Amino acid sequence: MELPFAESWKIKMVEPLRKSTREQREQWLKEAHYNVFQLKSEQVYIDLLTDSGTGAMSQEQWSAMMLGDESYAGATSFYKFENMVKKIFGLDYIIPTHQGRAAENVLFSYLVKEGNVIPGNAHFDTTKGHIESRKAKAIDVTTLDAKDTQKEVPFKGNVDLAKLEQVLTENKGNVPFMVLTVTNNTVGGQPVSMENIKATCALCHKYNVPVVMDSARFAENAYFIKTREKGYENKTIKEIVLEMYADADAATMSCKKDAIVNMGGFIATRKKEWFEGCKLFCIPFEGYITYGGLNGRDLNAIAQGLDENTEFDMLETRIKQVQYLAAKLDEYGIPYQRPAGGHAIFVDADKVLDQIPKEEFPGQTLTCELYLEAGVRACEIGYMVADRDPVTRENRFEGLDLLRLCIPRRVYTNNHMDVIAAALKNVYDRRNEIKRGVEIVWEAPLMRHFTVQLKRLG
Ligand SMILES: *Cc1c(COP(=O)(O)O)cnc(C)c1O
Repeated sequence: MELPFAESWKIKMVEPLRKSTREQREQWLKEAHYNVFQLKSEQVYIDLLTDSGTGAMSQEQWSAMMLGDESYAGATSFYKFENMVKKIFGLDYIIPTHQGRAAENVLFSYLVKEGNVIPGNAHFDTTKGHIESRKAKAIDVTTLDAKDTQKEVPFKGNVDLAKLEQVLTENKGNVPFMVLTVTNNTVGGQPVSMENIKATCALCHKYNVPVVMDSARFAENAYFIKTREKGYENKTIKEIVLEMYADADAATMSCKKDAIVNMGGFIATRKKEWFEGCKLFCIPFEGYITYGGLNGRDLNAIAQGLDENTEFDMLETRIKQVQYLAAKLDEYGIPYQRPAGGHAIFVDADKVLDQIPKEEFPGQTLTCELYLEAGVRACEIGYMVADRDPVTRENRFEGLDLLRLCIPRRVYTNNHMDVIAAALKNVYDRRNEIKRGVEIVWEAPLMRHFTVQLKRLG
């Protein structure tokens, strides 16, 4: 018989997990104001809050850490990192930063002015935060396909080119760049096709607008291009990545995702003037330009992580685990953003808890219920994250309301996936008994979801 699929690695070091009782979890969640960001990790059994910085490093990454050069300037670790980033992305000028949002902060401090308009395929929350805090406007130009969670299309993260062109014509001279996010995290870790990447760059360049690729999950995006887009079946992931970036002007990167390290980021660009501009902000915010808030050992681990996670087997192991969980949810009839994304399953909370009004945050309610059920910590990517309109201060209810089950890289086994699916099924089966949602008691003026305090209704 044909051998079944299995992971492309084995486990060398383990970390114990902690179980708890429902009674304990009721108490802990109350103390956390019904916001799972405020739970202690000890209070969590399986942690699906994020895949950011939560991956397991390889033996090669750990040994690279031992060779870290901690010189203040010009460390060998920096050059190892710089060479790898240049080789993988084909971009010329590289600035390390301590994480992805720090890369955004440095680049946007140089580029974004009050009143600017910045189109993008569903800006990530920190990206939008960095735009709006500078009194500029982020306009979503994602394809409409992404709004229908049950529509099965291969590249749901794509840009709607007509929408993008409308923004570009209506705001001539006022668009400093466009943000193209691969994979599109906000709409469910959905990939962008090579065809769409090229067409987006060509359209922006026609209007003299540069393209910044928000690259946190660039390698997962390349995997989907290889497995779903005609003409790429026989290309390596590294070849596909080079082609994805061939027309891009710059990239911001959170290395906590596809470089599989606990901390790190960078800016990469082919524009010399942007590099010079960014240096001026990197030094006061992040530190000297050959370390940018990182240790030498971190830079070494990033270089190694980028190299190994742009290999097909590593990506296949990861994405097949996400698809394994998706198949379980199919079996139980639980609706999620289809097809499964690269790093997570996004359960359609609005559909599961359709009796709970938007004003009572169904996604946030479902997040609480899943934690209470089994100690599984997921995260709301919905009306809470969407925040308020900066001008009207009204809640933004026009997007999707999702519960994100985010899978850390190389951390959990498929037995854990079975537990997650069973816990969610139990909540799903008693969904009609959940009559009320939650209410905001206190919120921050920007990026409220991290610190919001809630009250359970009913
Ligand atoms: C995580 C992420 C960021 C921000 O990166 P951090 O390292 O968390 O600061 C930006 N964009 C996308 C698409 C992300 O997923």
